[in-house]
Amino acid sequence: MPLLETTKAQAAAVPRVVDERCRACRKCLARDLCRSKAILQIDPGEPPFIDPGRCYGCHACIPACPSGAIVLNGRPPQPAG
Ligand code: SF4
Ligand code: SF4
Repeated sequence: MPLLETTKAQAAAVPRVVDERCRACRKCLARDLCRSKAILQIDPGEPPFIDPGRCYGCHACIPACPSGAIVLNGRPPQPAG
């Protein structure tokens, strides 16, 4: 795949919540931040999940989670800088 296509695919990729890292916060900071309401939490006290039908791949939720529980392609978020 050409580099530009790879970059586009990565930009549009839907992150996922790693249940083992998620602390199931009463107020999920990532969920509050998601402007497309793609992060859903059915039961309080359970990890949320990301609805791929609503997510537009902005990735703003990845650094918003203080536990690093939201990842792209199974990798933890990269440190800034
Ligand atoms: S995804 Fe992060 S911010 Fe949201 S409930 Fe889990 S640990 Fe808390
Ligand atoms: S990538 Fe953007 S649209 Fe998708 S769940 Fe995260 S904050 Fe919401």
